[in-house]
Amino acid sequence: MYGEYYCPFINYSGNICGRSCMREEGCSIHWKYVIKLTNKPLIPCSDCGKLTRSASGRCPTHIRGFYVSKYYHKLRTAFEHSSKA
Ligand SMILES: [Zn+2]
Ligand SMILES: [Zn+2]
Repeated sequence: MYGEYYCPFINYSGNICGRSCMREEGCSIHWKYVIKLTNKPLIPCSDCGKLTRSASGRCPTHIRGFYVSKYYHKLRTAFEHSSKA
Protein backbone atom coordinates (compact mmCIF):
# COMPACT_ATOMS: atom_id res chain seq x y z
CA MET A 1 0.00 0.00 0.00
CA TYR A 2 1.44 3.33 -1.03
CA GLY A 3 0.26 6.63 0.32
CA GLU A 4 1.07 10.18 -0.60
CA TYR A 5 2.83 10.96 2.67
CA TYR A 6 5.99 9.75 4.35
CA CYS A 7 6.02 8.79 8.00
CA PRO A 8 7.92 11.52 9.93
CA PHE A 9 8.46 9.33 12.99
CA ILE A 10 12.04 9.35 14.29
CA ASN A 11 13.14 6.17 16.01
CA TYR A 12 15.61 5.82 18.86
CA SER A 13 18.63 5.60 16.60
CA GLY A 14 17.71 8.94 15.01
CA ASN A 15 16.46 7.53 11.70
CA ILE A 16 13.21 8.69 10.16
CA CYS A 17 10.70 5.86 9.52
CA GLY A 18 9.98 7.27 6.04
CA ARG A 19 7.37 4.65 5.18
CA SER A 20 4.80 5.85 2.68
CA CYS A 21 1.43 6.26 4.31
CA MET A 22 -2.08 7.59 3.85
CA ARG A 23 -1.91 9.86 6.89
CA GLU A 24 0.07 13.05 7.10
CA GLU A 25 0.86 12.14 10.72
CA GLY A 26 2.68 8.92 9.88
CA CYS A 27 2.37 5.23 9.05
CA SER A 28 -0.16 2.90 10.66
CA ILE A 29 2.32 2.04 13.41
CA HIS A 30 3.60 5.51 14.26
CA TRP A 31 0.85 8.04 13.60
CA LYS A 32 -0.48 7.79 17.17
CA TYR A 33 2.98 8.53 18.58
CA VAL A 34 3.47 11.39 16.15
CA ILE A 35 0.17 12.99 17.20
CA LYS A 36 1.13 12.55 20.86
CA LEU A 37 4.52 14.14 20.21
CA THR A 38 3.08 17.07 18.30
CA ASN A 39 1.19 18.06 21.44
CA LYS A 40 4.52 18.58 23.19
CA PRO A 41 6.19 21.98 22.95
CA LEU A 42 9.10 22.33 20.56
CA ILE A 43 12.46 23.45 21.89
CA PRO A 44 15.48 24.41 19.78
CA CYS A 45 18.46 22.06 19.86
CA SER A 46 21.25 23.51 21.98
CA ASP A 47 23.76 22.56 19.26
CA CYS A 48 22.18 23.49 15.94
CA GLY A 49 18.94 25.28 16.89
CA LYS A 50 16.81 22.74 15.06
CA LEU A 51 13.44 22.36 16.74
CA THR A 52 13.09 19.17 18.74
CA ARG A 53 10.72 17.67 21.29
CA SER A 54 13.45 15.78 23.07
CA ALA A 55 13.59 16.20 26.86
CA SER A 56 17.36 16.68 26.75
CA GLY A 57 17.07 19.73 24.50
CA ARG A 58 19.01 18.15 21.63
CA CYS A 59 17.80 17.15 18.20
CA PRO A 60 18.18 13.46 17.16
CA THR A 61 21.43 14.33 15.39
CA HIS A 62 23.05 15.72 18.51
CA ILE A 63 21.43 13.71 21.29
CA ARG A 64 24.00 10.96 20.86
CA GLY A 65 26.87 13.41 21.22
CA PHE A 66 25.20 14.67 24.37
CA TYR A 67 25.32 11.24 25.99
CA VAL A 68 28.76 10.43 24.60
CA SER A 69 30.35 13.62 25.98
CA LYS A 70 28.74 12.93 29.35
CA TYR A 71 30.27 9.46 29.28
CA TYR A 72 33.74 10.71 28.38
CA HIS A 73 33.57 13.36 31.06
CA LYS A 74 32.88 10.61 33.57
CA LEU A 75 35.80 8.55 32.23
CA ARG A 76 38.17 11.51 32.29
CA THR A 77 37.37 12.51 35.84
CA ALA A 78 37.82 8.90 36.90
CA PHE A 79 41.21 8.84 35.15
CA GLU A 80 42.34 12.14 36.70
CA HIS A 81 41.48 10.88 40.12
CA SER A 82 43.38 7.63 39.66
CA SER A 83 46.45 9.32 38.14
CA LYS A 84 46.88 11.61 41.13
CA ALA A 85 49.21 9.76 43.45
ZN1 LIG B 1 6.37 4.98 10.65
ZN1 LIG C 1 21.09 19.58 16.78
